[in-house]
Amino acid sequence: MKRSIGASGYDGRLDFTRKTADVGVTCQEHPCVNVYVPIELYQCHVQQYHDNRCVQCGKNLVTENFLRLHLEEMHNPFNSGDGIRYRCFEEQCDEAFYSHQERVSHAVKSHQYPESFDFDIVQNGQLFS
Ligand SMILES: [Zn+2]
Ligand SMILES: [Zn+2]
Ligand SMILES: [Zn+2]
Repeated sequence: MKRSIGASGYDGRLDFTRKTADVGVTCQEHPCVNVYVPIELYQCHVQQYHDNRCVQCGKNLVTENFLRLHLEEMHNPFNSGDGIRYRCFEEQCDEAFYSHQERVSHAVKSHQYPESFDFDIVQNGQLFS
């Protein structure tokens, strides 16, 4: 579900009190509260922090694919018990696993994910520092 600047949920408040050179947007969306974002970075900011946010728990999943996995694994009431399947992080890959750990090994071995990758992102979303 893509949103663009001015779509519902965003109040479109622009901060014109600064000089035109650094005009920007004061982002009001969770988890930003009055975070000032330069206008040229605003689109990236929305993509990175708000476009793929879970509507159920507010966590930021960064990409559409992570958001879909998150919804399936965390919020699908039919996906609990022994039927649980962890699908590969890669959208084009059909592999599924019985444990998150198996999936992590697969991602590292088959898709060259770095060991330092934040694999818990599917459960936790992106952590804001
Ligand atoms: Zn923001
Ligand atoms: Zn969620
Ligand atoms: Zn895979």
